[in-house]
Amino acid sequence: MENIERVFSRIEENREDMIALQELLTGIPAIAPQSEGKGEWEKAEALTTWLKKLGVTNINMINALDDRVPAGKRPNIIATIPGEDETRNFWIMTHIDVVPPGELSLWNSDPFKMTRENGKLIGRGVEDNQQSLVASVYAVTSILQEGLKPKYTVKLMFVSDEETGSDFGIKFLLDNYDLFKKEDLILVPDGGRSDGTLVEVAEKSILWLKFRTTGKQCHASMPHLGINAFVAASKLVLKLNGLNEEFNRKNEIFDPPYSTFCPTKKENNVPNINSIPGEDIFYLDCRILPSYDLDDVMKRIGELAGEVEKEYGVSVEIETIQRESSPPTPEDSKLVKSLIRAIKLVYAVDARPRGIGGGTVGAHLRKRGFDTVVWSKIEETAHMPNEYCIVDNMVGDCKVMAEIMLRG
Ligand SMILES: [Zn+2]
Repeated sequence: MENIERVFSRIEENREDMIALQELLTGIPAIAPQSEGKGEWEKAEALTTWLKKLGVTNINMINALDDRVPAGKRPNIIATIPGEDETRNFWIMTHIDVVPPGELSLWNSDPFKMTRENGKLIGRGVEDNQQSLVASVYAVTSILQEGLKPKYTVKLMFVSDEETGSDFGIKFLLDNYDLFKKEDLILVPDGGRSDGTLVEVAEKSILWLKFRTTGKQCHASMPHLGINAFVAASKLVLKLNGLNEEFNRKNEIFDPPYSTFCPTKKENNVPNINSIPGEDIFYLDCRILPSYDLDDVMKRIGELAGEVEKEYGVSVEIETIQRESSPPTPEDSKLVKSLIRAIKLVYAVDARPRGIGGGTVGAHLRKRGFDTVVWSKIEETAHMPNEYCIVDNMVGDCKVMAEIMLRG
């Protein structure tokens, strides 16, 4: 039998063990202190013990200090499995933490007691991100059990704090350690589609802005004595809403393939109907193709605000709430090609590189110049009540990871 076939049948034999690891991990809630949780320590210890039992013994634990949790630290685990070619690493990064269960009455079972039903596992965290975490563990384990060696050195990375900003997880690691090399392959299996064809290589830049328009409050029966901030702001809303006509480039890897500029949230102004509002606050959500320089966008927005200031005699203050951009991973990079090959072999579908609207953890790595690909075959039940994982997806994703570990 060919090596890959041996590994695939070994993975099938490990199916029940994978489910057992899911059950163990689901039973230990790893919730951030911001959500009144105790952090990831206990779950990380259980995972480490399991890895050692499987013969994965080269484990490095990097802790970020955090006195809000009982352990006083947030764990980040790196397990290293040497490959034939040690000059390059194949990283698979998953996260240990989970979001709170939310409204318990919406769950059909205890969120922290995994249940099984028609090929599905149900519980908080089973899909986000344990499906991929367990798949990565058993991809490398199955290779070792067959007495084989991965092509490149495999680094399984299990991080904390993905759900609440990554300050104690991947951002902490990137700020304080030199872990990655430019030529490394980095897979973040924490996003994707139910058919497994979405290989995410790029994100739109995110720009969230707050606009405070100041005029002059007065009685609504005497509008000439005041300056209506709401009216001026409304004019600005319409100008901003038309920005996509100016910044109108297209890139078909994204859906939609153009930049979006959406006025969204609006704060209350005056509580009563008979006052002219002297202040108005609204927000803008922009998702901009990475080929645009955000400074150019900001400059144009500043000009539009200036036009409204002039026309209405108001002042407009613009505050940046969030600004994120990261360079795309090339569509022909090594990991993209390997993934497309492995997905075809395992799932018999043609995957392709795509861009998304923004906000995944992969951007932290891309921002530092490391090519990163986000992929998994998921049902997208993350953060929902009755979150579930399809066992066949977990096993299939495990095979995709193992194929890349073996063949590079
Ligand atoms: Zn996740």
